[in-house]
Amino acid sequence: SNTLMAGKRGLIMGLANDKSIAWGIARACADAGAELAFSYQGDALKKRVAPLAESLGSSVVLPCDVGDEASIDALFDELKKSWDSLDFIVHAIGYSDKSELRGRYVDTSRTNFLNSMDISVYSFTAVTQRAAAMMNAGGSCLTLTYYGAERVMPHYNVMGVAKAALEASVRYMAEDLGRDGIRVNALSAGPIRTLAASGIGDFRYIMKWNELNSPLRRNVTTDDVGKSALYLLSDLGSGVTGETHHVDCGYHIVGMKAPDAPDI
Ligand code: NAD
Repeated sequence: SNTLMAGKRGLIMGLANDKSIAWGIARACADAGAELAFSYQGDALKKRVAPLAESLGSSVVLPCDVGDEASIDALFDELKKSWDSLDFIVHAIGYSDKSELRGRYVDTSRTNFLNSMDISVYSFTAVTQRAAAMMNAGGSCLTLTYYGAERVMPHYNVMGVAKAALEASVRYMAEDLGRDGIRVNALSAGPIRTLAASGIGDFRYIMKWNELNSPLRRNVTTDDVGKSALYLLSDLGSGVTGETHHVDCGYHIVGMKAPDAPDI
């Protein structure tokens, strides 16, 4: 443990269970002395999220469906009752109908395209608007993205298009909020077996491919992601904004199958 986040207050959005990327980040932040609040999507998740929050000493656990402006407003209204200021926010939320996370991108429906962009892209902007209003200089906003934004990945489809837009929104918000000393970054995580990932077609194959072909010859863990998130959320990242930081065991630098990788 360390004191990197001592005296800092942060809101973690997107915790579903102990496999969630949000959980790896929350653990790293709590271990570094941060005080945390959590939001969860619906009643069904509350019974999973509340005990996890409590295990990190947090009792601020609030509902928020990011597809609903009134629900986002209610979250921040409630948060302000506990805290008068905010130092960081983690947005670990994405959604697409899983029927379109297989097959061809070109077949994406308008309805799912718009919903995926709404939940996976606009929600980070909507939340950052409200969070930044509670932040002082030194504030940090972080979202989660994937390499499917930059390169075509099988089955990632509309989520790849959404993540590309999310990364662009990070750059625009970094410029908008930079003069107030608020930083905005994206962490591009390698594949991790989570609830959201289980909706992606052939995810097992993607995991295996990354394990065999990334320079570190393994997959990342939520611990790896948590530690790198800590750098971006804490004062260690004070000069970093608008960045998409890869935490993927180096996979994004690779141009070809590794020489020692067996056929799978
Ligand atoms: P997860 O299923 O644990 O988390 C996804 C979260 O999104 C859940 O908590 C869910 O409740 C929330 N969510 C979805 N729709 C919502 C809505 N309308 N309102 C509020 N919350 C909503 O899965 P995860 O893999 O930890 O996903 C977290 C983030 O990490 C996502 O943005 C995902 O795209 C990204 N990511 C995941 C991987 C991976 O391989 N797992 C890799 C790179 C990036």
